[in-house]
Amino acid sequence: MSMFEDIPVEVGVIYEGERIRRKNMQVELGGPKQEHKFELARVLKSEDIEDGKVTIVGPDLKNMEEGSSYPLGIIIDAAGEKLEPDLEGVIERRIHEYTNFIEGVMHLNQRYDIWLRLDKKSFKKGLNSFEYVGKVLQRLFKSELPIVEKIQVTFITDPEKIREPYEAALGIYEARDAKARGMKDEEVDKFYGCGLCQSFAPTHVCIITPQRYSNCGSISWFDGRASARIDPKGPVFEIDKGELVDAEKGEFSGVNEAAKQKSLGEVTKVWLYTAFGYPHTSCGCFEGAAFYIPEVDGFGLVHRGFKEATINGLPFSTIADSTAGGRQVDGFHGVSIEYMRSPKFLKADGGWNRVVWMPASIKERVVDFLPKELADKIATEGDVKTIDELKTFLKDRGHPIVETWKEEEPVAEAAAPTEVEGEIPVEMPVATLPTLPITTGGYKIILKDAKIYAKKVIIRPIKGEKLGGKGK
Ligand code: SF4
Repeated sequence: MSMFEDIPVEVGVIYEGERIRRKNMQVELGGPKQEHKFELARVLKSEDIEDGKVTIVGPDLKNMEEGSSYPLGIIIDAAGEKLEPDLEGVIERRIHEYTNFIEGVMHLNQRYDIWLRLDKKSFKKGLNSFEYVGKVLQRLFKSELPIVEKIQVTFITDPEKIREPYEAALGIYEARDAKARGMKDEEVDKFYGCGLCQSFAPTHVCIITPQRYSNCGSISWFDGRASARIDPKGPVFEIDKGELVDAEKGEFSGVNEAAKQKSLGEVTKVWLYTAFGYPHTSCGCFEGAAFYIPEVDGFGLVHRGFKEATINGLPFSTIADSTAGGRQVDGFHGVSIEYMRSPKFLKADGGWNRVVWMPASIKERVVDFLPKELADKIATEGDVKTIDELKTFLKDRGHPIVETWKEEEPVAEAAAPTEVEGEIPVEMPVATLPTLPITTGGYKIILKDAKIYAKKVIIRPIKGEKLGGKGK
């Protein structure tokens, strides 16, 4: 029997983290096949809400062909005496959590990137209408966040009717993000942590600071603060920043402590502004990722919506797999688009001076936030298709990374005792792929041409770092 008697399937925390494979899905909503998908929360006046109403614009679940894919918009309108528009981001992010409580419903990602699947078994049990999903959301919002007093839910699946609200939602996200810009991590005493994605990645916790937006790109520092205030027992919690251990890398004693506690000892240190050493972990719903390209000693960036292979030949999904799961993986780093707009973006690694490639669609979104002189020096898929072409492009355009190649080349040749480059004996397996490159113990280990077996390993001391372990 369900937690709600009039809902044909179970609803509860145990269904969070449920994965629904394509072969088991009744229908898919949003996701990579659909251009238009979004979820949005709006705080309205009480008189503008018909409490308990569920509206479906377009085909309902029961009218969708088995195995088909549809666009999806979810709009939550809420009202309450203490509800303010500042809480819209907080309410909106809970859609992910509460939808995942429904047996046989999988919800991934956020905002303009949502991806849902309905399992065949749950459909057969009777979960064949958005009416049920809407009712569950309404009840969970009211019971978990009592400041929500009235709520109505709209689902849009009509491919034509979704366009306009989708565009409007993009404008609202941008306005929200702009609010936190300009604030500095140095100016606040508290950061916020979020463990909402621990059902998918148990050791992951997002550290949300004014200048490091959450990985999913949907919880700003302000949202974190609001969420921790209205729901102190919820997934978002306050972090006392503690002492500044390393300003460049972004290490704070309070953050280390919080990460250790929330990851049950798995993560002991977090460096907020770097992709190496002790990078911020990633769950699975990050908006984009930075990936190290050893051949040019620079970073590529990619976002979830990019459908082609990136410059190193790997698609977003493979890069995402390399960093997801709450691990700290050198050189593969889940990030949000808003974090790319921050002056602290990969600051310890050289910031934008280290970025060499990104899809044109990301460039368009962040170009106003990167140093002007760099804008035409960073390649996109329209400029180059291979690493060799990328090298030529960077040289021709005078990208600052090229200077560092010049500095390092003579050292590499002369430093025989400290740099080792050689063939690995045939058939020696490299089991840790695709975690390349690896930085550890004061050395950078670059695995080249490695798929299952590495042909070459370069071990090079890191400039300015003493030997003897991370962080020394
Ligand atoms: S990505 Fe991070 S901030 Fe966003 S919901 Fe997941 S844990 Fe929370």
